[in-house]
Amino acid sequence: MILVTGGAGYIGSHVVLALEEAGFAVLVLDNLHHGHREFVSPDLLLTVDLEDRQGLAALFARYPIEAVVHMAAFAYVGESVRRPELYYRNNIYGTLCLLEAMVAADVRTIVFSSTCATYGEPEEIPLSENHPQRPVNPYGATKLAVERMLGDFGAAYGLRSVIFRYFNAAGAHPHARIGEDHNPETHLIPLVLDAALGVRPHVTIFGEDYDTPDGTCVRDYIHVCDLADAHILGLKYLLAGHPSRTFNLGNGNGFSVRKVIDTVEQVSGQSVQVRVGARRPGDPAILVGSASRARQILGWKPQYPDLETIVATAWNWHRYRFGRQTSGYVPVIVKAQGIPLVGV
Ligand code: UDP
Repeated sequence: MILVTGGAGYIGSHVVLALEEAGFAVLVLDNLHHGHREFVSPDLLLTVDLEDRQGLAALFARYPIEAVVHMAAFAYVGESVRRPELYYRNNIYGTLCLLEAMVAADVRTIVFSSTCATYGEPEEIPLSENHPQRPVNPYGATKLAVERMLGDFGAAYGLRSVIFRYFNAAGAHPHARIGEDHNPETHLIPLVLDAALGVRPHVTIFGEDYDTPDGTCVRDYIHVCDLADAHILGLKYLLAGHPSRTFNLGNGNGFSVRKVIDTVEQVSGQSVQVRVGARRPGDPAILVGSASRARQILGWKPQYPDLETIVATAWNWHRYRFGRQTSGYVPVIVKAQGIPLVGV
């Protein structure tokens, strides 16, 4: 049985589905602080907090847990700057409680969700796993601290880990009713989709004077189902006895903020009101990762690399989420690797 912490979250719920599809028995731990109860079958969900040491010990005593996929974390960069204590407590202390409970229960296999925010300002693009890690915000710092904790627990207790450094998770499952739903929402694609739906009046581009082809920031958007698939491969890699390893997960293609907005307009058929604002502090001009290590060692191959498909799946989810049924609406049907998307 695989324990997924944060399994009721955006990426976590996609990982839970992928694990089930791959034939794993799954248990979800989520305190529902940011997670969504409706994203997980009730029979899988345990609403235990990572800081609840007794609850964790009871859980490991009761269930035959073979490995942990640890995704529970706070992940708002801006909030981490304003309220770092929340991040140091939840992300670092919470993980410490988890690792201690794992070692006590003799569970020594873990897949951990880390982030490209551990790299900080890029010195070269694409970023490889060997790029120096100098995070520029507390969120990245707390994820880096956990990466180091995993290394130290590995040396001391034989814990084996796969660390995944995500680039920009985006899109939604083409068939399931799960997707991105943050409160507050700060991410570009859902904000642009909101503007296309009329839920928000406009989207603000954070800076148009970057040294990029169209002046707006470039990011590496990777479909959430492709992230989820990588977790299955990472877990199988560890269960086969391989040593700890760190992998970037990105699709290797950069898309500018303007390109994302254009693609939303094209996919949705709606126009998006755009304003240009100031740069957001801490935003590098370009963040694109090389995932060649994951491709080579894990055999990972993203199934949804093009931005149109990523945006189309997110758009389907968004429309479902807001329950907006306009007359004459034609559902977006896009074929990705032969998989038809569900219209809503
Ligand atoms: N962005 C923007 N307007 C917004 C939100 C984001 O222009 O309202 C830009 C942001 O500056 C960055 C890109 O979109 O260059 C992706 O931002 P997001 O917050 O989605 O992810 P991040 O790269 O910060 O993890």
